[in-house]
Amino acid sequence: MRTPKGFMFDLDGTLILSNRALGSYDAIPGAAEALHRLNALGVPWIALTNGSAYAARKQAPRLRAVGLPVPDERLFTPNSVAARVIADAGHQNVLVLGTPGVAEALEELGVSCCLPDDERARSADAVYVAWHPDCVMPHIHLACERVLDGAALLSASDVPFFATKEGRSFGYSCAINGAIARVTGIEPQPTGKPSAHSMAFIAAQLGVAAEDVGVVGDDAVAEMQMARAGGATGIAVTSGATDAAQWAAQPPERAPHVVIHNIGELVERLGLG
Ligand SMILES: [Mg+2]
Repeated sequence: MRTPKGFMFDLDGTLILSNRALGSYDAIPGAAEALHRLNALGVPWIALTNGSAYAARKQAPRLRAVGLPVPDERLFTPNSVAARVIADAGHQNVLVLGTPGVAEALEELGVSCCLPDDERARSADAVYVAWHPDCVMPHIHLACERVLDGAALLSASDVPFFATKEGRSFGYSCAINGAIARVTGIEPQPTGKPSAHSMAFIAAQLGVAAEDVGVVGDDAVAEMQMARAGGATGIAVTSGATDAAQWAAQPPERAPHVVIHNIGELVERLGLG
């Protein structure tokens, strides 16, 4: 196995467990020490969550409050990737199906957004589906109309579950994506993991080739499928949604290169330190 030159860490199930309401966090044992050790070794790393509920500058302080040394500028969300994809595609008016926090995060990254109740929503040239616990049918209706009228369909995440303290929880954007895709026949283009957009974004942030990235996570689709498709190294943990037996049963396109209990074992297991 190739030794990675930089790492991407997932949040839920890998660095932290939150509760279902995303209101409180616990750091996973060994996580803080692992990040400190990588810093001491001068190995670059970032954290990329598929959670889109909060802007990085709001979420990073909450990680630091539970002892994880994650600076604002090393934490990214699908919104970070979406802003890049939207700018590249030249979308001018993005309808956000998400919390006001999602729209705020995109606006801060230079994207012109609207929410379903805004007048401008009816002329949106792209729809972005993200963390939207208050989604109601008129929002889905509007999104379907825009997509059928030619608007692009983007989504933070199309992964059905994530790990929480209470067990697995639903990815709301996946549920909403399903509703829109069922009606319109158009599948969303995810910006979060396991998209190629995310893989390219991670490698660029780390300043290394995709082949030199270690993708560390607890989800076979979000992290391992992205790592395999991108030629990176997949490092699976059993501290989240997937246990050792489930890791062993993955098909080759989702199989990790290495399985560890938690990221506390990372430095030793990869012979980095
Ligand atoms: Mg996870």
